[in-house]
Amino acid sequence: MAREYSITKIRNIGIMAHIDAGKTTCSERILFYAGKTHKIGEVHDGAAVLDWMPQERERGITITSAATSLTWKDHQLSLIDTPGHVDFTVEVERSLRVLDGAIALFCAVGGVQPQSEKVWHQSEKYNVPKLAFINKMDRTGADFYSVVGEIQHELGANAVPVVIPIGQEENFRGIVDLLTMKAIFYDEESQGQSFREEDIPAELLSDAKKWRANLVEKCAEQDDGLLEKFLETGDLSFDEMQTILRKATIARRVVPVYCGSAFKNKGVQRVLDGVVRLLPAPNEIPPIICAKEAEANKREPSDDAPFAALAFKIMSDKHSGKLTYIRIYSGTLRTGQPVYNSTQDKMQRVGRILRMHANRQEQLDEAYTGDIVAIVGLSNTRTGDTICSEEHPIQLEAIEFPTPVVSISIAPCSQADNEKLGEALHRLADEDPTFTVHYDPETNETIISGMGELHLEIIVDRLKREFNVAANVGRPEVAYRETATRAVEGVYKHIKQSGGRGQFAHVCLRLEPMDPGGGFEFVNDIVGGRIPSNFIPSVEKGVIKAMVSGPYAGYPVVDMKVSLYDGSYHDVDSSDFAFQEAGRAGFKELFQKCHPELLEPVMSVEVVTPEEFMGAASGSICQRRGRIETMENKAGLKVITGMVPLSEMFGYANSLRSMSQGRACFTMHFEHYEAVPFALTEQIIKKRREENKIR
Ligand code: GDP
Repeated sequence: MAREYSITKIRNIGIMAHIDAGKTTCSERILFYAGKTHKIGEVHDGAAVLDWMPQERERGITITSAATSLTWKDHQLSLIDTPGHVDFTVEVERSLRVLDGAIALFCAVGGVQPQSEKVWHQSEKYNVPKLAFINKMDRTGADFYSVVGEIQHELGANAVPVVIPIGQEENFRGIVDLLTMKAIFYDEESQGQSFREEDIPAELLSDAKKWRANLVEKCAEQDDGLLEKFLETGDLSFDEMQTILRKATIARRVVPVYCGSAFKNKGVQRVLDGVVRLLPAPNEIPPIICAKEAEANKREPSDDAPFAALAFKIMSDKHSGKLTYIRIYSGTLRTGQPVYNSTQDKMQRVGRILRMHANRQEQLDEAYTGDIVAIVGLSNTRTGDTICSEEHPIQLEAIEFPTPVVSISIAPCSQADNEKLGEALHRLADEDPTFTVHYDPETNETIISGMGELHLEIIVDRLKREFNVAANVGRPEVAYRETATRAVEGVYKHIKQSGGRGQFAHVCLRLEPMDPGGGFEFVNDIVGGRIPSNFIPSVEKGVIKAMVSGPYAGYPVVDMKVSLYDGSYHDVDSSDFAFQEAGRAGFKELFQKCHPELLEPVMSVEVVTPEEFMGAASGSICQRRGRIETMENKAGLKVITGMVPLSEMFGYANSLRSMSQGRACFTMHFEHYEAVPFALTEQIIKKRREENKIR
């Protein structure tokens, strides 16, 4: 077997945009032009191919990245779908992590919107080279040049048009390619598949010359040799410009700007040309970095290097079961090959290797560096894990996942659903690292936590549709945490003598708060066999059990160090059970003396509003125990940013809508945990007692 496409002909790309900019429509067109789908699916009739989940079709949003393979002009492209909804930032982040370049999509009317700004900055964090595509040139109010200005000023990008529009709004007919200085008119009858190349219309000639000069100058700036030639002759050749544009785009010094109308089938093909001409192949990006210092810190992107890949997405597939999407950073992979999951220290076997097309799966014998493929058979691999060759283990820099902040209790509708529910929840948690499941033994409840209300709603919906499990859910609640503010030491004895064999365990524990994010640490300070070593893990287990549902308010305890420094045992009456009980009850008792406090998730909130509702909108943040941080003007609107506790944000969408006649909108994401004010803590605890959630 050999490669079908050399590594230089591979492009792994994504389309980044805020909701409604036209990403789905654009992706559909790309698949259509690349000959992979026969009919153009329109978003509004719910037939789009990429949006494969029924919920997405109903909601009209894209929430899960699917990697789709296509070919364009003798190149192999993987199109990685990135969602625009802010509840799913993790999906955006993980797709940015595995792609090599992106098309940043803007609406010609809306321009740079706060949300597009967020995704843009995320992509900068991952050093992703970008092309810009200004879509919806046919819409009333479309203004190409003002959006180019916004990309320059609001995103700070060196945006350089490589095409300009012929006409705008309902007169939008095609584009002028500034590299070839030709006008391109798309034929509506053929859904844009055929087009005519003509001389630039006379009325546009002076504009075209002006923007061509701008492009030439921007190219010349990038290279001293070219600058000299430019100063002498006033122009550059097509090849010179193309070469330097490619170099500058990959180095992220330039963002080439295209435009068109996906809906009217105009201009999308030119961006695809841009993808193969200007965005990098997998061997043109810096080598992947490894997580651990000790390892050779980099791995070259080459088929000859040892195998290493990142599992970036897990999905259930009707036909093949669990599919693990991987991006191969180095080496090659064969069907049936054993691979090492270095994140979990487990061996796995590669069942089948699949290349996913929009409407079919292609089975491969082998996959190569730079490929994005789906694997069947990696049963234990989770999202974010590294898989690699056993002889040359490596751990790739993991994807950072945010903390789930909203919880709901969930219970099966019937006994028959009970087992299915547990299994389904664990499968979903495997797929989605921002979704967690835990069982609270105190209240006998299963609690699921996620990034937001919508996130959990979709999970519950999937349970029903994909796993056929009916479940009752509680109200969404804030995922509070408990922690200690002071260290304490103390003794606990678990002794029972009533009938049968007695129980005896005696532990001395020290509880200390750790810095935020410290998690949990258990320290064994027992000397001289005061407690036999086989009972020490029992104590730890008991402590962990107590921490799941904290003694203060029944929420998980975090950021604690617990040391077992003394104790005693009884030859006959001591057991694993007795020491677990001592650990659990001992922790519970001592924790109450540590001056516990409740922590709540605080969200970074951004409200975008017309000026007239500015007062009401900023007031609404302050009323919610929020702090306003910035107020700015952007694209004729006011943008307020601030920090607000999540508990105050339930129902905010509705109240913002009604105070602004539906014209203000907001986004939020988790920022950090902060202590809840004491008066409020008391209310929460009182309510938890009434609900029987604290034992
Ligand atoms: P997404 O949320 O970014 O995936 O955007 P969609 O592709 O779902 O598009 C949002 C809406 O804009 C849909 O109603 C599309 O039909 C429409 N749309 C997309 N592209 C264009 C375009 O080029 N011109 C016009 N006029 N409408 C478009």
